[in-house]
Amino acid sequence: MTASAGTEAATNAAERVSGSVPAVRLERLEKRFGEIAAVAGIDLEIGDGEFFSMLGPSGSGKTTTLRMIAGFEQPTGGRILLHGADVTGVPPFDRDVNTVFQDYALFPHMSVAENVAYGLMVRKVPAAERKQRVTDALLMVQLDGYDKRRPGQLSGGQRQRVALARALVNRPRVLLLDEPLGALDLKLRQEMQIELKAIQEQVGITFIYVTHDQEEALTMSDRLAVFNRGAIEQVGTPAEVYERPGTTFVAGFVGTSNLLTGETARAVIGREGTFTVRPEKIRLGKIGDEAADGELSALGRVREVVYLGSDTRYIVVLDEGGELVVTQQNLESSSMEALAAKGRPVRLAWRREHVLALAGSPRAATEGEDANSP
Ligand code: ATP
Repeated sequence: MTASAGTEAATNAAERVSGSVPAVRLERLEKRFGEIAAVAGIDLEIGDGEFFSMLGPSGSGKTTTLRMIAGFEQPTGGRILLHGADVTGVPPFDRDVNTVFQDYALFPHMSVAENVAYGLMVRKVPAAERKQRVTDALLMVQLDGYDKRRPGQLSGGQRQRVALARALVNRPRVLLLDEPLGALDLKLRQEMQIELKAIQEQVGITFIYVTHDQEEALTMSDRLAVFNRGAIEQVGTPAEVYERPGTTFVAGFVGTSNLLTGETARAVIGREGTFTVRPEKIRLGKIGDEAADGELSALGRVREVVYLGSDTRYIVVLDEGGELVVTQQNLESSSMEALAAKGRPVRLAWRREHVLALAGSPRAATEGEDANSP
């Protein structure tokens, strides 16, 4: 897909999101397992045609929410609407959704084509149409020519593509994906992220994607929800969530937290509160460097240097207390030069507009959730 086609598809997705009935609407959705509130009464709208991610740490309630949308799990409170219809008590097979699981769940004794055709067989789609749709689905995931192989004769990435084709062939209006790339190595995962996004734009189906990997969520999503302890802390576009995290938790989970609080905040920022500044916005300079207009600065000492190839991460202990992480591109510095900075006194500087004020505690932020909603 060309860059302009990609932009156009993104615009179309945004238009679909703003105008019509949402593909998925969750109202005060709750799931309790005994004492545990796995999902603690969430409200959420996902637009038709959106690539929407649910991001959060292990145990934050993402999978349970996804399973309730699929119908595999019954809520203990609240409602689920798909394209405006209440499906809360409707069984999974009567919902216009399909799920792709991390473990693929392919039938090992069947060929690739038979695996993909399975859903159509069950629904008694005529043979000729079935064949055509399987061919189209395999073409879409770039597995044409693999139809006669068995899952055991495929790589992990290819198996994942079969699982995707098997879901897409049913042409659901909503596709649910639960950490589908979790079993793949980093390089393949990154390739598949780009591909998944391209496929989603091509088919225009609403994708709801569960992941604990912030980079993955930022790469693919039109919008994402950040989950914490069964609640949603923030909903927004990747840029909104990264550049304007609403809470301490979001700032820390999506990126490096870099918090300035208490005495440090008073000394460095000039007022009380909890603030964050992203590592890539901070310049690492010498003690005597002049401050530019509109800049804030802090003195400190480099405690640790982590050389990452294209970048270096410096952990700096501030004279005023606390620590900041600084990342710098290795434009001109060699690894030796970067590593030699350990122990050195430094002056950090950043533009005032790159300081973000955060809500003090996740709970307080959750109560003020509307302010974070788009
Ligand atoms: P992960 O990324 O590890 O899958 P998650 O964010 O998807 O985590 P969930 O699987 O939704 O989290 O789990 C949320 C909470 O509900 C956890 O505390 C989990 O232990 C609990 N939980 C989930 N399923 C059950 C169950 N069937 N019985 C009891 N507790 C459960």
